[in-house]
Amino acid sequence: MRFEYAPAPESRAVITLRDSYGLFIGGSFVAGSSVFKTISPATEDVLAEVTLGGAEDVDRAVAAARHAYERTWSVMPGKERGKYLFRIARLITERARELAVLETLDNGMPILQARDVDVPLASAHFFYHAGWADKLGYAGFGPSPRPLGVAGQVIPWNFPLLMLAWKIAPALACGNTVVLKPAETTPLTALLFAEICADADLPPGVVNVVTGDGGTGHSLVAHPGIDKIAFTGARSVGKEIARMCAVSGKRLTLELGGTATNIVFDDADVDQAVEGIVNGIFFNQGHVCCTGSRLLVQESVAGTFLDALRSRMARLRLGDPLDRNTDIGAINSRAQLDKITSLVSSGTADGASRWSAPCTLPDHGFWFPPTLLTEVPSASRIMQEEIFGPVLSVATFSTPEEALVKANGAPYGLSAGVWTQQGALLLQMSSALRAGVIWANTFNRFDPSSPFGGYKESGFGREGGRHGLEAYLDVVSAGDVGGGIGV
Ligand code: NAP
Ligand code: MG
Repeated sequence: MRFEYAPAPESRAVITLRDSYGLFIGGSFVAGSSVFKTISPATEDVLAEVTLGGAEDVDRAVAAARHAYERTWSVMPGKERGKYLFRIARLITERARELAVLETLDNGMPILQARDVDVPLASAHFFYHAGWADKLGYAGFGPSPRPLGVAGQVIPWNFPLLMLAWKIAPALACGNTVVLKPAETTPLTALLFAEICADADLPPGVVNVVTGDGGTGHSLVAHPGIDKIAFTGARSVGKEIARMCAVSGKRLTLELGGTATNIVFDDADVDQAVEGIVNGIFFNQGHVCCTGSRLLVQESVAGTFLDALRSRMARLRLGDPLDRNTDIGAINSRAQLDKITSLVSSGTADGASRWSAPCTLPDHGFWFPPTLLTEVPSASRIMQEEIFGPVLSVATFSTPEEALVKANGAPYGLSAGVWTQQGALLLQMSSALRAGVIWANTFNRFDPSSPFGGYKESGFGREGGRHGLEAYLDVVSAGDVGGGIGV
């Protein structure tokens, strides 16, 4: 039986969009050199005008962050810093509905994912790191670890608020101040977060938000007043940033992409695995760095498993991201839609068979149906490159060894998933898979206390947990007593 759903749209009335937004520098919104527009990818309607930060704006923000670092934040006892982080966490929770609607409008993600994942995890990161602020001396980096100074942070568009939280919460807990550059297509939740910082009475200059494009990010990375760069984004940009930091001596962490493999053995619970694979690749339209874009199914069950997968995919609902019934929202930008379309074409040209779930694509905005590519040759670009869209590439294997060779053959190593009822096989596969996060009989589970990061082309450094603190502390001289921050 097929149910029809009545529309259940979340109200836009919970947000008040300004026509134009300035840069958040030194605790207030200020004008910058020029402006650009951010749109809703679901409708292509303009949402607001936002300031495009130039090199001189970045310079002002870095100066504000340096001033706040030296005068206020690095000398404040950890117990006091922690109170501000708690306050920010609570304000995110209080304004959760507003943040979720804004994220959905600007990014295109389904409202349920913004409401139930993006926003609650963002506040959880602030709560978690608030607890660390006065306990850094017990984190295993010596009795009095020092902060690094001013952190320049550049984030992508796929989970704008969550990526902001992953960057800002540990930096602040450890006593650093920050200049954050959100992605060009999704600046709005970062600007609302700036309002939250002001409402929390965070000392001016501790958090600065400079909106803009890749050029703004470049100016931030190149700025001599920055002590540490934290970048999440594409591999090509990450490599350029690594070259720039290598000559400047700035500390660097890179969270780049992935092409995660899910490996399904013949004894896996089919319904559970299908649900996990669907969540792994279609959650947030596949705009997830650890998305499970490659599926390896054991030959003996491939036919039945793929039938069950197609049947589940056919029930996914694509459409208005603000509708609470929606599973698949809009692709974030026309450029990303073009990239997905071109990679799928290259896969079919290499001999892969394409099947897309039957769904009607809206007339406006950027959309791609949930898609399955089977019989994909291992060397095909679509198996090797990150697609960052709702497209699952499938191949088969006969033995665990063959699955490992295929999974580890990818240039990336951010995450992987294993599906089997055998505990010994789970452990054997998990220790042999070369990926930062390995999920067993589940996928896409996150927690602020769990470190996240990659191997190989997926970058280096960890975010989250005790390991994530290391990226914002001067652990080299951490053994020194005295001169560290108050804890
Ligand atoms: P991107 O093009 O690298 O952009 C990321 C950020 O860098 C944006 O703010 C971007 O500004 C800025 N940027 C662009 N060129 C720059 C330059 N030359 N110097 C400094 N900054 C520059 O990546 P994206 O396409 O937005 O994001 C998707 C990528 O992020 C995927 O590869 C995904 O896997 C990765 N990701 C990784 C993780 C992780 O934790 N490993 C998490 C989420 C996403 P504009 O927006 O103006 O271009
Ligand atoms: Mg937008």
